[in-house]
Amino acid sequence: MEKTEQQRKEDEQMMRRALDEARIAMAKDEIPIGAIITCKGRIIARAYNLTETLCDVTAHAEMQAITMAANALGGKYLTDCTLYVTVEPCPMCAGAIGWAQIPRVVYGAPDPKRGYREYAPRVMHPKATVTSGILEDECRELMQEFFRGKRGLTPSPKSDGQR
Ligand SMILES: [Zn+2]
Repeated sequence: MEKTEQQRKEDEQMMRRALDEARIAMAKDEIPIGAIITCKGRIIARAYNLTETLCDVTAHAEMQAITMAANALGGKYLTDCTLYVTVEPCPMCAGAIGWAQIPRVVYGAPDPKRGYREYAPRVMHPKATVTSGILEDECRELMQEFFRGKRGLTPSPKSDGQR
């Protein structure tokens, strides 16, 4: 199998695990975003958005996952890790990803309103690689489903980025 194709398969497999986390968030009436951190192909952290449960605006899935991964590895730098998240990270999380020196980030759906690319495109480590659009439709639909339930009406195409 070609390397890029194999990589994509692996990315999709891990993104499914991140989507599992997002669905747990959804069931708890949290904005459905899930994150996974792998180290050398093994999952070392799985987390979902907990901002309502913890009453903490910083409790994004990525922040939870970074803390968990550092605990699992016993070190604060995650230089051998990949972070998978269902929605494009916000500038806060992208900053944390930079501090943790995570070299690779994979996300599903873009977030044009709150995503880091618009406001802080250089906040991650300069050598970090980013892959986007993995299971994008599933990741986006989960968000749309959540906000549709919240408002009781059909969202406009732009409404999926609200957090
Ligand atoms: Zn965030």
